[in-house]
Parts: sequence; C-alpha cells; structure tokens
Amino acid sequence: MTDGIARDGRFTTGTTDGAETDAELLDDLISCGRAVVSAGLVRGSGGNLSARRPGTRNCWVTATGTWLDRLTPDDFSLVDIETGAVLAGNRRPTSEVLLHLASYRARPDANALIHLHPQLSVLLDAMGEPIRLVTIDHAYYLREVRSTPFTQSGTAELAQVAAAAVRDGANCVILGHHGCSVLGDGLELALKRALNLEEAATATYRALMLGRSVPECPPEYLERITAAEAGSAAVGAP
Ligand SMILES: [Zn+2]
Repeated sequence: MTDGIARDGRFTTGTTDGAETDAELLDDLISCGRAVVSAGLVRGSGGNLSARRPGTRNCWVTATGTWLDRLTPDDFSLVDIETGAVLAGNRRPTSEVLLHLASYRARPDANALIHLHPQLSVLLDAMGEPIRLVTIDHAYYLREVRSTPFTQSGTAELAQVAAAAVRDGANCVILGHHGCSVLGDGLELALKRALNLEEAATATYRALMLGRSVPECPPEYLERITAAEAGSAAVGAP
C-alpha cells in the first residue's frame, strides 16, 4: 500500500497520493469519482476531475459527458497544461478543461482539482450566506471558502475567475450558481476538502434552519495550526 489512496480503491490517511504511474493515477481518479457521487456531491454527468503527478506539465482530466461513478481508463484525456493540447487518451476532454488548466498554471503546488455541484454549498452561496467553518475538520481542511460571481460555465472567463481566486493559496472556491472548485496537493486532500466543504455548508444550513446564529470553530484553533505550520512544525490532521 502506498500513501494516499490505496490501490484497492480505499482512501487512506496519508496527505499525498502515492500514484507513481499514469495507470495508478487513473485508478485514483476512478476511485475519487465513485466517492464524490456516493457522497451526493454531484448528479448525473455533472462535475469533472483532474490530477497530475507532481512536477509534470500534463494533467489527466475526465472526458466530456462522463458520469463520475462510471469512469474507466478510457474516460480520461491527457492534456498539456500550458497549451491545452490533448496528448493522449480520450480526444474530448471535459468542457471545463480550461478551469483545470488555468488553476494548475496559477498553482504549481496543486496536483488535483475536483469540480462538483454540491447542492447546499451552492445554495448558501447564492443566498449570500457564507459557509461557516463549524468544526475543527472544517477549519483544518478548508481554512477559508472563496466565492466568485456567476460566470458562464465552460468559458475562459470562468477559468480565469476561478484561478484568480486560488492564486494566493486558497483551495476552495464556490463558482456562483454552479459548483465548487477544490484543489489539493493530491486527490486525497482535494477529496477531503470537497467532503468537508459540503459538510460545513450542511452544518451552516441546519443552524440557520434552527433560527440560530451559526457557531464557528474557535479562532484559536486555526491560529495555533497556522503558527505551527509557519514554524515548519508537524501538524497532525484532526
Ligand atoms: Zn460544473
């Protein structure tokens, strides 16, 4: 077993993925697709995924029209991040391929991007309600949630808006009236962020439904984490 996502498809607790070959990376993407659909974060053929092996200039991205819980190795395109040229695999990458490419260009440290349509995250954002970080998991994995105004899907403009939102290191962006774009140093961390994003939105929604103010994770928790990280201390995930 390697760190990250085990080859048998189970997600392990490492912070980076262990894919050493393109075939392993595609296995990880296929497992990730099943996980996000089973979590209810996307319906039908919505959403798309990509990942690259660290240090490489190409990414594997899901093809257009694919259902994320039915992916096979034939459902991915290998795309040059700088030029957008399709180098191998499926010849028709997702219509949101520009979102993936622009985000990787903005964030050389990111090796995975998960784009989904999580219902409560998008609803709260459309209502102008910030998604609160209630638990230590929300705070640790999300840190902050960025929001971008509605922009037509599949366009270079959306790609630029989303990439600008993550350029300074943010990893979770809500694309107005549409979905989320979540980055990670590998698929496992991106998945944890995507899951925690919708969980934080759900907690926020429930508190609002109760007519109560939404309780947020005490700020001293994140202050301690960020101070430790600034000092290069090892910080364990909650
Ligand atoms: Zn979308």
